[in-house]
Amino acid sequence: MSTGGGHNRILAGLGLGALCGVVANTLVADSAGARRTLDMAIDTVAHPIGQIFLRLLFVVVLPLVFASISVGVASLGDIRKLGSLGARTLGFFVVTSAASAVLGIAALHLLQLGAGFDSATVAELQAKYAGDVKSLADKAAAGAPLDLLGRVNQTLDMFLPRNMLRAAVDMQMIPLIVFALLLGAALTFIEARKRELLTSVLEGVSDAMVTVVGFAMRLAPYAVFCLIFGVTARFGLGLLQKLGLYVGIILVCYLIQLLVLYPLLLALLARRNPWQFLKSAMPVMVTAFSTSSSNATLPTSIRVAQESLGIRPQIAGFVLPLGATMNMNGTALFEGAVVLFVAQVFGIELSLGTQAMVVGMCVLTAIGAAGVPGGSLPLLMGVMAQAGVPPDGIAIVLGVDRILDMGRTVTNVMGDQVCAAYIDRVDAARS
Ligand code: ASP
Repeated sequence: MSTGGGHNRILAGLGLGALCGVVANTLVADSAGARRTLDMAIDTVAHPIGQIFLRLLFVVVLPLVFASISVGVASLGDIRKLGSLGARTLGFFVVTSAASAVLGIAALHLLQLGAGFDSATVAELQAKYAGDVKSLADKAAAGAPLDLLGRVNQTLDMFLPRNMLRAAVDMQMIPLIVFALLLGAALTFIEARKRELLTSVLEGVSDAMVTVVGFAMRLAPYAVFCLIFGVTARFGLGLLQKLGLYVGIILVCYLIQLLVLYPLLLALLARRNPWQFLKSAMPVMVTAFSTSSSNATLPTSIRVAQESLGIRPQIAGFVLPLGATMNMNGTALFEGAVVLFVAQVFGIELSLGTQAMVVGMCVLTAIGAAGVPGGSLPLLMGVMAQAGVPPDGIAIVLGVDRILDMGRTVTNVMGDQVCAAYIDRVDAARS
């Protein structure tokens, strides 16, 4: 089953879904009855179709990540190779995330969008989104232990929890990745006969999961239509008039990443034709855009990398799951921009030192953020607090966040693909 043929149909689903959603949103604007009917149609038709697609993708994430990482590591053969590829991969993640955060901060500096933002609008938005802010703050507080020992244990739990199965059930990706790395490494030490047996079982699991993704992709054009329709039909379009510039500037920054930075990295580091690469990666971008979730996009990412981008399975299986969890360039960019925007709205000057600290925190929180819609928001509130910017100020931008989330998820997953292409070239040159 190839990924190639469905591009245009998925893109058509995306465009049509967005268009129909905006039209529906405008048509029901003046009638509460019509709005209720539209909501009902979304809940009973669009939502389930979108969810079936999403769940087909989610259902394969755990077995696929586990199998592809352990096979990937086992087939590297030499465990020292894992160390050097791993270090390069992490280096790429940190440098590109930091560059992205700097881009977000620089854009806001240059344009000073928040300065002079209407104070009545600020008060209105803060009142309107107070409830959402509170639940985000509760989420952030739940994850923050008070004492030092608590923090140390929390970090241990993040990588090596006592109960690996519970972590997997909770879809915590980092422990799963660590366990798969351990298994892959251990496989390189055991008797060849047993290694081959286990590796071929894991390869079978991985191939079967990639095939399930193929089933899901058949549903993609309709599901993408429904997902986007649901978002745009419910979106507060009025808010876009007030925050249009903010949204527009961040979207332009994402485009700079996608159309300038990534092509440069593809040409220089991965020695790839950037435009061909981006074109072939279209199903990954559309899936990320319509799901706003790096985790949900991961199965498609692995499949497209192997089948359309020519990245060898052992590299795709190793770099992409790590990237979906730890490499979020779009998120780092967005976080930097929001901290600056809200600081400007409240007239708070951030010193150069504070801004450098914000860049560091953006990188760290982008590593820690969950690859789900809005996954970075609770952590972003922590960055704001650390920088001396009122975290409640996030209310100003919450109403338009879904649009930015779609864009940043595309940027996040494409950063992973660029990294995989780069690591693939480095590894191929060595072997
Ligand atoms: N939705 C983003 C992702 O899954 C995470 C975030 O920035 O909220 O990549």
